[in-house]
This record gives sequence, C-alpha cells and structure tokens, in this order.
Amino acid sequence: MKSLSRKVLCRTSLVRSAGTSLLALALGATALTPAFAQEAPRPAASATKTSPATPTPAAPTPAAAAAEAKRPAIESFTLDNGLQVVVLPDHRAPIATQMIWYRVGSADEARGQSGIAHFLEHLMFKGTKAHPDGAFSAAVAAVGGSENAFTSYDYTAYYQQVPVEQLREMMAFEADRMENLVLSDEAVLPERDVILEERRMRVDNDPGAQLSEAVDAALFANSPYGTPVIGWRQEMEKLSRDQAIAFYDKYYTPNNATLLVAGDVTLDQVRAYAEETYGQVKRRAEPGERQRPQEPEPLAARTVSLSDARVTQPSVQTTYLAPSENNAEPGEAEALDLLADILGGGTTSRLYRALVVEQGIAAGTGAYYQGTALDDGQFMTYGTPRGEATLAQVEAAIDGEIVRLVKDGVTPAELEAAKNRVRKALIYQRDNQTSMARRYGAALSTGQTIADVESWPERIEAVSVDQVNAAARAILDKKRSVTGTLLPAAAETAADAKAPEGTPAAAGAVDPAAGAPAPGDTRS
Ligand SMILES: [Zn+2]
Repeated sequence: MKSLSRKVLCRTSLVRSAGTSLLALALGATALTPAFAQEAPRPAASATKTSPATPTPAAPTPAAAAAEAKRPAIESFTLDNGLQVVVLPDHRAPIATQMIWYRVGSADEARGQSGIAHFLEHLMFKGTKAHPDGAFSAAVAAVGGSENAFTSYDYTAYYQQVPVEQLREMMAFEADRMENLVLSDEAVLPERDVILEERRMRVDNDPGAQLSEAVDAALFANSPYGTPVIGWRQEMEKLSRDQAIAFYDKYYTPNNATLLVAGDVTLDQVRAYAEETYGQVKRRAEPGERQRPQEPEPLAARTVSLSDARVTQPSVQTTYLAPSENNAEPGEAEALDLLADILGGGTTSRLYRALVVEQGIAAGTGAYYQGTALDDGQFMTYGTPRGEATLAQVEAAIDGEIVRLVKDGVTPAELEAAKNRVRKALIYQRDNQTSMARRYGAALSTGQTIADVESWPERIEAVSVDQVNAAARAILDKKRSVTGTLLPAAAETAADAKAPEGTPAAAGAVDPAAGAPAPGDTRS
C-alpha cells in the first residue's frame, strides 16, 4: 500500500510550523515528512520505540510481524451529527496527533474552479470569530507542537501534534473552524496570491512537476484526476471568496469528515472530548455520494516530452492506468503492490539489478503502485541514465524487463521476498503515530473501511503467483500508459539524452530512489 499520494503539502503551512518540532523529533520522525517518504526503506532505530510488544523492525519473524500487524486496538464511533471518530492508541510517549479528514478534494471541484479545494485549505487558517487569524497556530506553537494541512484529489486534511494535555484544546479549535470560518475579501484576496505563488514555485519553476502535470492530463482523459490539485493558473486567478464559502458550506460538515486521534489516549477520553467539541457542530450539508466521470478503457499509448534548460538529469517515467484499492477486483490491488515491489521496489528489484547493477546504464530506476484513490490508481516505472547510456537505452531496458515479467511471470521466491518487505514496511509504518493516522485517514477518505485496513496484512499474505502474473498482464500494457521524458534543452531527441558528466548520477550514485519523480511533494 504505497502512498505516493498526489497531493499538495503546503509550503505556507510548512513555514507556519517551521522549526522542527521537538515532539516530532521525539517520535523519531518529523511530522512534516510527506507520506511517500515514510514508505521508503529507512533505518529501523527509533529512539523512543520502547514498547516490548514491538519487534525489531530490522529482522521481524513472520510470527512477530503477524502479531505486530494485529497489535493496536483501533476503535471507532460516530457522533450524532455524523462525524466518524477513529482512535489509535499509542502509549509510548505523552503525545497526541489530531487529524481531521474531509472527504473532498480537487477531484470534487466544479469544472472551471480548479484549485478551489486547495485554496480553501489555505483559507481555513484565516480564523473564526472566537479565534482570530493566527490564534490556532499560535496555540500549537506555544506548546511546542507541529501542524500542517494537505490537499489531494480525494481528501483535504488538517493535523496537529501536541502534548496530550493540549489535545482537547486542539479539538475545540478544529471543531470551531469546521463551521465558524470567517472569510473577508481582505483575507481571501491576498491568499489567492499566495496559492498563485505556490504554483509558480512548485510547478512553473520545476520542469519535473510540469511534466507530471502533462502526464496526468494525458493519462486521465475523462477523470478529474487529469486536473492538477493546485489548479490551472487561469482558473486560480479567478477564484473568489463566494466560491470558497460555497465550497466550505457544501463540504465542511461533520458528516463529511473523519476525525483521527492517535497517541496517548483512551477511547472514553476521546469520546468525551469529541462530544464536547465536534459534537456541538451542526450537520450543515448533505454532500451526497461522490460520483465522478470515469476513465474509458485506454486505446493508445501516449508520449509526453518536455525539454528545459533547467533539467540537469534526464529521466523517463511510464505511468499505467491501474485500478485502485477501492475499485480493483478482490486481490488485484494487493497483487499490484507486490508486483511493484518485485519489479522496482529497491536494490533487490528486477529493474535495479538489471539496469543499475548488471548493465550499469541507470543511476536510478524503480516502480511503484499508487492504489489509494477513490477512482483509478496508477502503476509507474521510472529510470535515469548513467554515464554514456542514453535515455532511450534506459527506456528500452525497462520495457524489456516488463516484457520478460509479463511473459515468464514472477517466481514463488520473489513473491515471498516481496511479502516480507511489505510486512516490514507495515511495521515501520505502525511505529509512527503520524503515518498510522495518515494511513487510516487516507483509506477512510477513499471508500475503504477500518476492516479493510486491518485485513491488509492477511490479504497480502493470500496473494498467489498467479494473481501477480494476471495483474501484470492486465495492467502493464503500453496502451494503458503515458510515457513522459524529461530532457535537458540541449538534447535534440530522447535518444540523445544522457546523464551529464560529473553529476552525482554520472559518477555512479546508487541510491535506488535517484531520479525518481517525487509526486508526493512536487506533483500538485
Ligand atoms: Zn498550499
């Protein structure tokens, strides 16, 4: 369940919570780490991992992993106004994380108003009558906490991490801005300049992000996933206060949200706090079922190419339209997750061994599956050339490995090793309060249930070689894909593009993630 989510993690919010939180450090990870980074292999040691029930992530036995996977008693209840509350107890440190997830994202925007979901995310920091602009953030900062917010296609979320004594206060703040946001033109119009500047910094000044935007637009011919979360500039420029208020009134209602509270808390305590705070918020609207235009079956392989003088490292990425965890056949999303691991999940993957180790033509290569989505997901491969190798060679070598995999299939040993790595990744994830809350929040905002998340380890265990091979045959078809190439301006054609001399990549960097497009933080 890789979560290379396509989302905007707001720089403005990052600035707001600048100065790395001591609390976050105490948890062994910064709360601001994008979700995709938490999925990457990382050192096992976490200074505060004191629970004897937690096995050493470096070498979990299958039995320990299974026990670990079942460990936390996740509990849930629903308030009378329809707000679902999920409690993830974690008693290792006197800290609590509150996350409120609204089941609305950019894919729910009206046509012509792209960027309104993300715009409202910014405006949610503008204050209420009871808590004027800046009061909430100041309260978080005063206790050494951290906060942030992010917008994706399918959800918009806000969170704070604070000492557990301040949890109730944070819940009161968040409940207040669910219904009492005050938006004046004086607050709204300057913030529109902020999001336009954010687009300039994150997309217009970043050729890789521009390419990702073009790939998405080509991949999704009919789904709103083809429109960037941050919005198209000419539409962002016209977003108004009235549109923001209408969006807020339609979607920011307790029955369209999920509250996650993780940390040193009990169910009874959270229930009492929730009833005193969120329980007072009126059910303001009935957003109804989310039904969006669906993708037709793709008929043609597409290619998108971008050359830019700012590109120092050429790269190629191929994105295949794939089912998501929400709309896949039973077992298919799990098979795609394992397939991505076998094909390109790290230094033992087929792509890395073939292109980096054996042929020596790539500085980095890999694959991942992005399955957390209400509608379709994506399966992606990528590579960057090394030394004298060209982009065309890298692309051909990736395609060659895919052809071989589709033709011959994966082996039982490869599948078992992949399951082991997925088990370990799950243990790492469970070790981090924020990533756990994110996982549940994202799942519950994209059509999944708590039971779906809980049964994930068993469903991964149950995947067979035949299922992985069937998923590969069904999805890794060029007709389902868009290939994007990123080239330095000097390169005449993709075939000529190669890594410049003297770059770390040309010098033989072996970071498996090198050259990976980073949709988690740059695609918007
Ligand atoms: Zn932003």
